[in-house]
Amino acid sequence: MECIFCKILRKEIPSKEVYSDDLVYAFEDINPVAPVHILIIPRKHIEGLDKLSQEDIPIIGHLLYTAKLIANRLGLDPSSGGGGYRIVSNCGKDAGQSVYHIHFHLIAKRQLGWPPG
Ligand code: 5GP
Ligand code: ZN
Repeated sequence: MECIFCKILRKEIPSKEVYSDDLVYAFEDINPVAPVHILIIPRKHIEGLDKLSQEDIPIIGHLLYTAKLIANRLGLDPSSGGGGYRIVSNCGKDAGQSVYHIHFHLIAKRQLGWPPG
């Protein structure tokens, strides 16, 4: 299996763990675009949002809930005085997807532009 994120899950490539459980794993992005840049991935190899099936719905809910837990732990919640955060999942070449194992980026701690580049 050549997928980099599967190799990270199998610990064949080192990563800086932020969160781990039976379904998901979160780690620091190797090339951060903001002071906080964390990747949240399922342990199941799914190539991207376009490859999701109905049976994966609980996994996606779990990924998003994990993002919320991590953001809370890092003090990013706007409701508690944090600056907020952005969750992004790039799907396909026009969106800039470079790793074909579905993931959410959790990005924070700087003012982010909109629309994205
Ligand atoms: P995408 O471009 O698919 O939306 O996001 C892939 C992300 O994975 C990029 O932000 C990239 O920096 C990150 N990435 C790629 N290879 C590695 C790696 O080996 N380790 C870590 N921690 N992040 C990686
Ligand atoms: Zn994979």
